Formats: sequence, structure tokens, C-alpha cells
Amino acid sequence: MSTVHLSAITKQFGKVTAVEDLDLLIKEGEFFTFLGPSGCGKTTTLRMVAGFYYPTKGVVKFNDRVMTTVPPEKRNTGMVFQNYALFPHMTVFENVAFGLKVRKMSKEETKKRVEDVLRKVRLDQYAERQVSQLSGGQQQRVALARALVIEPDILLLDEPLSNLDARLRDEMRAEILRLQKEYKITTIYVTHDQVEALTMSDRIAVFNSGKCQQVGTPTEIYNEPVNDFVAEFIGETNLLGVSEAGLGENHRLYHVGALGSKVKVNNTSLNVAGYTENDELRLSVRPEAIEVSAQPVAGENVFPGKVKLVQFTGAAVHTYVEMNDRLTVVGTALNQGPSTYLKEGAEVYVRLPEDQIRIVPKAGV
Ligand code: ATP
Repeated sequence: MSTVHLSAITKQFGKVTAVEDLDLLIKEGEFFTFLGPSGCGKTTTLRMVAGFYYPTKGVVKFNDRVMTTVPPEKRNTGMVFQNYALFPHMTVFENVAFGLKVRKMSKEETKKRVEDVLRKVRLDQYAERQVSQLSGGQQQRVALARALVIEPDILLLDEPLSNLDARLRDEMRAEILRLQKEYKITTIYVTHDQVEALTMSDRIAVFNSGKCQQVGTPTEIYNEPVNDFVAEFIGETNLLGVSEAGLGENHRLYHVGALGSKVKVNNTSLNVAGYTENDELRLSVRPEAIEVSAQPVAGENVFPGKVKLVQFTGAAVHTYVEMNDRLTVVGTALNQGPSTYLKEGAEVYVRLPEDQIRIVPKAGV
């Protein structure tokens, strides 16, 4: 097991800065996810941990060992690629044994290790099958077995589930977590899928445009986003431009331009953390926090609106409400049965609960 420490890492490809001044400390045994949209620098960072790329600037350490320019085969990392990168005409056994053969391990030890890891990924019945005759999920297990069989200090997974259908993806998520806990291995997982990141990770680093925006546990990232990019990228949210309009004893007031009105926000660090005077501000409120009702609603921050669209998703109902002719907010409620569904065109009241609102700065790019 190993920690991974990236200090002031920058990677440039010609004029393109793929990763800029990145600091990250990944703890021993942690399941750590790099999350972000396409092109934000996740894979480049992972490849610098693997040693396939060396940083233009900065230092990579595993525990206290400087690894910045150590070649990949000397890092003892196991990597799983999006396209699995298996040898299609070799058997499952041969694919998994490959790394051990390169390391010149004895035949007996190789056999023992490969059989052991194939049992762990539940492919022991398939050892002699050609990889090209396996399903996508089975191929994914071979790729995992191949990464684990060398007993790596660090497991690196680059979008390993993106080629699988939704049901298999769920299954493999659980499978990867089970193996990670069993091997207690420091793991870095790259994905652009927020559900994957939220459900699997001990901690997540959210990337955008080559920069890390926030590092935190899934609940911290979801409940306390540091800027509008993180709020919008993780989960659904309503973002409204605001400006400061006053300070009370336990609350702050913000002017919401599109509503032509003020909102009250509880003055806790959770709600109004981390912005400075010159920042452009946004209010973020999750759809599930918004109350939409046909009856007048008691409390602060209640605004009139008109239902534009009701979207039924099974477990939940999304209600799109137009307010002040300029702004549509979405409220999401659990499905409480047909009698509770609002009708399109209905006049409603919308409450933005003052303890659920987050005031965040606009992300600088
Ligand atoms: P994706 O999810 O699409 O793989 P990503 O977040 O992993 O995206 P990277 O692959 O790390 O993003 O790419 C970051 C930026 O660096 C992109 O602008 C990309 O075009 C650029 N880039 C990556 N690899 C190279 C390369 N070998 N040569 C030139 N530019 C590159």
C-alpha cells in the first residue's frame, strides 16, 4: 500500500496545458476518484501517476519515494484501461499471467497467483477461454485480474465501466469496490460519471479545464460545493445570479436579479463559504430542496410561479416552474401518488429554504 502525493504538477502538450499546478494527497488504501467533463485533464493526471507521462513541472511521490520520472514498469502500479487493452487471441489465463511472465516469475508461482486472482474475480471457470469469446463484463474482470495479479501498490482505473450497459455497470461497480476493500489497495478511479463517483469514492477531486476545483468526500462535494461549476457538475441544481444585499444577525440577504426580489440565506459557513468581494455570485439550490405547492406556503423565500412542465420519472416527479416571466426553477419531489401531481399552467408557490441555499462564486476558468 502506498500514498500518492502530487505537488504543483503541470503538464503541457505543446501549447495545451492539460493539467495546471495540481496538488493532491491520496491516502493509503483510499478509493480516490478524478471526476470531470471530457478534456479536463483526468486521464493525463492518471498517466502521470502511472508513469506513461512525466510532468512538465512538479513532483510525484509514492510514500516518500520521488517517482516523477521513474518509468511505468518500475512503479508497481496496476492499470485498467477503458478499452481493457487485452490480447484478444490469448486465453484468460495467458492474459492475466502476462505481467508475471515479464517479471520472470516461476511457472508454479505464476499458476498459483493467476488461479487465485481468477477465483477472486469469479472467472476461475474461464481460464482457458479466449478473451474474444467473453462478454464485455467478463473482459472487464480479466482486465481487473491482470492489474491485480502483480500485487500492485496502487490500482489505476481509467473509465473502466464506460463500455458496459447500465445493469452491468452497476454490477461491476460493486465488484470493483469489493475487490478494492479485499486487497485494501490505494485506488485512483477516473470517470466523468457523477453517480459512479458519488457511490464509489472515499474522496473525489473535481476537475475542470486542467485545474482541480474541489477535493472532498461525496457528501461534502454535493452539499458544500465551492463554486458554481462543482454545484452544477455534481447532481442537478438551480443556479441564479445574485448580489449581496444586506447582513442580518443570523442571515444574509441576496438580490436575485431574475426574480426582481431578495432571498434570505442562513448565515452559516456551509451556506456562504469561500467567496471574496470581487467574485461574481450564484445561488445554488438543489431541486429536491425546493418546495412547490398549490397552496400558499409559510416561511421565508416564497415566490409565486406557474407550472410549465411536469416530468414523471417513476420514483420522483420534476416540476418546472416559471417565475417572474424570466426564470425557470426545477423542484423534485418523491412520487407521492397521482393526487399530488401539479398540473401544467397551475399557479403555484415556490419556497427556497434558507438553510438549503448555497451561495457560491462563479468558477474562474
Ligand atoms: P476524457 O474524459 O475525454 O478522456 P480527460 O479529462 O481525461 O478527458 P485528458 O485526456 O487528460 O482529459 O486531456 C486533457 C487535455 O489535454 C485535452 O485538451 C486534450 O486534448 C489534451 N491532451 C491529452 N493528451 C494529449 C497529447 N498526448 N497530446 C496533446 N494534447 C493532449
